[in-house]
Amino acid sequence: MTIDSGTTQTDGQASRGAGRKGFDEVDILWISEGLSCDGDTVSMTASGQPSIEDVVMGLIPGLPKVNLHNKVLSPTMGGEEYLAPFRAAARGEAANPFILVIEGSIPNQNIIEGDGYWTSFGNDETTGEPLPLNWWLDHLGPHAWAVVAAGTCATYGGIHAMAGNPTGAMGLADYLGWDYRSAGGLPIVNVPGCPIQPENFMETLTWVLYHATGAAPPPPLDEMLRPQWLFGRTVHEGCDRAAYYEQADFAKDYNSPKCQVKVGCWGPVVNCNVPKRGWMNGIGGCPNVGGICIGCTMPGFPDAFMPFMDTPPGGGLSSVLIRPYGAFIRRMRGITNAVVNQEPKWRHNEDAVTTGYDPHWRA
Ligand code: SF4
Ligand code: SF4
Repeated sequence: MTIDSGTTQTDGQASRGAGRKGFDEVDILWISEGLSCDGDTVSMTASGQPSIEDVVMGLIPGLPKVNLHNKVLSPTMGGEEYLAPFRAAARGEAANPFILVIEGSIPNQNIIEGDGYWTSFGNDETTGEPLPLNWWLDHLGPHAWAVVAAGTCATYGGIHAMAGNPTGAMGLADYLGWDYRSAGGLPIVNVPGCPIQPENFMETLTWVLYHATGAAPPPPLDEMLRPQWLFGRTVHEGCDRAAYYEQADFAKDYNSPKCQVKVGCWGPVVNCNVPKRGWMNGIGGCPNVGGICIGCTMPGFPDAFMPFMDTPPGGGLSSVLIRPYGAFIRRMRGITNAVVNQEPKWRHNEDAVTTGYDPHWRA
């Protein structure tokens, strides 16, 4: 299913470019105070196409001017100077349209009935009490021109939201609502990954920024609000080891170059492009380099994929079913491979031409 994410512009957010429908200056308010390890911010800095530096320095043609507010990459000294654009946006007084990026899962404040907080970002200016992440979402959500959830924790809850957790953690769409629409008419844009694949995030952010200028339609999302062009195929469909699977040639341990389905790989049923795209500069990609896929991009992660390293139930069945075909076809290919690995017998240095060449003209 494709989500129609709309193309409208916020009332009151005036067009800044003469004759254009979009904006030419956008703030990115990035809050990583969800329950997380900050790994998505770290991962994002590894992106090369495009890099965050290129986006912020205006080196990508057609993008708006981007003001990035991320605590790891901020040139401010922190404190109130850093918080100022967040506070203004929460009051509905943002200097520019803003994209809210959330990193980390959202704890359930209701279960502690206002007594304390699970995670916070800055203090209340009046009381001095910490402001929970949930307060920021309640105040920024209605004003954000677009909202992007970065990483599996922010998209679907991730590790913090697994069975038995005490925080009631959830993904951003579970908190704001799956039918949430930003001030720019967009649903939440989910970019899962533990952590996010760097270019997956930057490519999505770039698309949203082009959309903000009016130069691009909204990004096409699937029913779990993921960019379709990034999450439309399975790990298995892009895996370097897929030929071993087809030939029923399975690894028995993690030192093998063969298909890892029997040692715990969930790739056949997981939506992720990492084996195609690699991790940094095209290098890596979990099963390509010996790491089983544990489904870290998936809404059911981690519970649905545990215990890690056991043969997935479906993998056990499919590896049995494919064995007769795979074993037969592997033997046939072995024979053919031996044949085509030999040169034809007419390639020699003897006195006669034995190629079958016939020099005589015939009518
Ligand atoms: S290693 Fe995993 S993703 Fe790769 S072919 Fe085997 S099952 Fe598929
Ligand atoms: S291949 Fe699997 S484990 Fe690796 S990033 Fe993709 S979903 Fe996560």
